[in-house]
Amino acid sequence: NDERITEPDLQPSDDDAALRPKRLDDFVGQRSVKDNLRVFVEAAKKREEAMDHVLFFGPPGLGKTTLAQIVANELGVGFRATSGPVIAKAGDLAALLTGLEPNDVLFIDEIHRLTPAVEEILYPAMEDFHLDLIIGEGPSARSVKIDLPRFTLVGATTRSGLLTKPLLDRFGIPLRLEFYEPDELARIVRRGAEKLGTPIDEDGAMEIARRSRGTPRVTGRLLRRVRDVAAVDGDGRIDQQTAQDALARLEVDSAGLDRLDRRYLTVIAENFSGGPVGVETLAASLSEGRDAIEDVIEPYLLQQGLIQRTPRGRVVTERAYRHLGLVPPSRNPE
Ligand code: ADP
Repeated sequence: NDERITEPDLQPSDDDAALRPKRLDDFVGQRSVKDNLRVFVEAAKKREEAMDHVLFFGPPGLGKTTLAQIVANELGVGFRATSGPVIAKAGDLAALLTGLEPNDVLFIDEIHRLTPAVEEILYPAMEDFHLDLIIGEGPSARSVKIDLPRFTLVGATTRSGLLTKPLLDRFGIPLRLEFYEPDELARIVRRGAEKLGTPIDEDGAMEIARRSRGTPRVTGRLLRRVRDVAAVDGDGRIDQQTAQDALARLEVDSAGLDRLDRRYLTVIAENFSGGPVGVETLAASLSEGRDAIEDVIEPYLLQQGLIQRTPRGRVVTERAYRHLGLVPPSRNPE
């Protein structure tokens, strides 16, 4: 069971803390998101109030958790983090909320995975800063109202469409994160290399950046692996050749696609005549979960114009055929 090197989801081997920016000014890219946050942070600080609730959405590894921490840092308040699947019972969330200090940031990752019972607790907490708890069972059950400190909820999810309408409506500041441009990722590479004490030249940084699937988490992971190869095979410096060799060995191709991405494209191209093919069928053919396909594999392939989503399913584009070195069917002029 090999770990996928370009897997944007957090892996146990990721030592994320070391490369994580701490302030908005150190956070590369996502210009409009940062501009928005700056205004809201300033306003909240001026009023000495909790900032409005924020929802970050976008594919994994683009910086949602990092931005949530930065918001707390910039506000100068405490930061607590949890995730949707971890909060099993309403009481778990109640305990978290009653433990907050005024104006704290509470970060809930994968917020679309809260159970309905837990979500119910969240509504009055977000809206009026109180809890409505039912104590006891049956005829002796009674409801108690507990006041909470004002706080900022920062939620993160891969797609805003996964949230229920009442939850979505309670976020005053919904912000969408986009894939990063290669020059932005190259800056992240250089900054990371500096922190790791690894010499790297412009071309080496750009090579890693271009193969990072538009995703800073992947950038960090590729940088570490290339650094290891450079240390073992060379003098520890990273230039374009070192980066190319190391990444080829990891089976990350020139477009940043890995084996799974290429398998996805090849299956549609060869087994389904280029598509359209439904996501369930694809999931079965690839032995991958539907969620992983929709949240992790497809967003980048869509953004790169390698696939299209149609009402009848996924279709590979001529560009994908060219990338795979296959001849596109003639009925498919682009
Ligand atoms: P998400 O919560 O969206 O899955 P994270 O916030 O955990 O993503 O970010 C993944 C990794 O990428 C972290 O190591 C983080 O430091 C790094 N990272 C994300 N965005 C940036 C950025 N804009 N600049 C520098 N590093 C970043």
